[in-house]
Amino acid sequence: MCTCDYLLRSTCAEHAGAAVVHAAATPDAGAAPARAAAATAASLPLAQFRPRSMLHTARTEIRGPRYPVIDLHTHLSWSAQVRSGVATGESRRFFAAPQDLLPVMDAMQVRLMVNLTGGSGHGLADTLQRFDRAAPGRFLSLAEPSYGEWLRADYPRYQADAIGQAKAAGAVGLKILKTLGLYLREGIDAGALVRVDDPRFDPMWEACAAHDLPVFIHTSDPEAFFEPVDGENERYDELGAHPDWSFHGRDFPSNAELLAARDRVIARHPKTRFVLLHVSNAEKLDAVAATLQRFPNTCVDIAARIGELGRQPRAARRFFDRHQDRICFGTDAIPPPAGEETPQQVFCRALYEIYYRFLETEDEYFDYAPAPVPPQGRWRIYGLGLPDAVLRKVYHDNAARVLGLAPLPT
Ligand SMILES: [Zn+2]
Ligand SMILES: [Zn+2]
Repeated sequence: MCTCDYLLRSTCAEHAGAAVVHAAATPDAGAAPARAAAATAASLPLAQFRPRSMLHTARTEIRGPRYPVIDLHTHLSWSAQVRSGVATGESRRFFAAPQDLLPVMDAMQVRLMVNLTGGSGHGLADTLQRFDRAAPGRFLSLAEPSYGEWLRADYPRYQADAIGQAKAAGAVGLKILKTLGLYLREGIDAGALVRVDDPRFDPMWEACAAHDLPVFIHTSDPEAFFEPVDGENERYDELGAHPDWSFHGRDFPSNAELLAARDRVIARHPKTRFVLLHVSNAEKLDAVAATLQRFPNTCVDIAARIGELGRQPRAARRFFDRHQDRICFGTDAIPPPAGEETPQQVFCRALYEIYYRFLETEDEYFDYAPAPVPPQGRWRIYGLGLPDAVLRKVYHDNAARVLGLAPLPT
């Protein structure tokens, strides 16, 4: 669902041809398993079911955030060469230019956008030139591993050295897409999946510590992506729209196995700082709390997971109160038109308004994405009404600490 993954797999011929999911518009198309059979009684196609809430609840008008915002999780560039979900070259595809983004950033008081998918080598240099240097102080970019070099015999050393070069070029961290664990294979796009805790990456994790570059890591995905895609899957619409996001079957590890491998990496590299993206595992906040407690070298962001947090508002509020120094603001924003494929991530004023409403107000039962049908699952969310002291940390100061920037003046 970090929809990074839409982009990752959109060029994957293997998956493009695999009819893993039945179209959301035709849930009764016949091939669905028996447990979805009850749906056939309805004459209204699921895609046409767009109920409007009849609740008369308060709607707080959002003019801006309580404090200036660092959006710690955006995607402004992407690899131009992707093979079976793995970026294999350095060339970049850019989703926008600074002048396309700055008006919305200024209107919504987004002081800084962190572009996670900055790339490697000359692609990273292009990204830094296009954003970080063109609008100083408004954009920062991260580096990514060079998976295209994976078959080199000296890959562990090569990749570790690349970290120092990325730092020297201007990158402020390393982004690990869920490529690691779910796409990268021994032969890049063939053979066994490479595990998240494969020791060949140990020199890379250590280099990040040596150069004080935080690792932003996305591991696994919502549990429903590992379940059969049928009438009991709460992300039926989402998987119907993006069938290649299903990790059910084949040789995919389970959600729990992926997270356990990630935790072994964190344990092995206590001097490396890790930002666990998408709340680490937003459907299981008790487990996230345990992870944060166990590993002082970790924090989380909330990108593309307010749909999860906001449907468990009491647990989420307790989580924010307890871990208010470890939670960073992020949206996973992708500029349009690419971002329109995933409305919960499309860069626009409405997206930021929803995030601010969720964090600041106690409004009830509202959409978590600017879309006519909730795109991740058919539910709505409730605001947390966080106090100012927590908002200051979540909007700005926690991310500033990750990036080595100054906190807001008091
Ligand atoms: Zn992600
Ligand atoms: Zn992302």
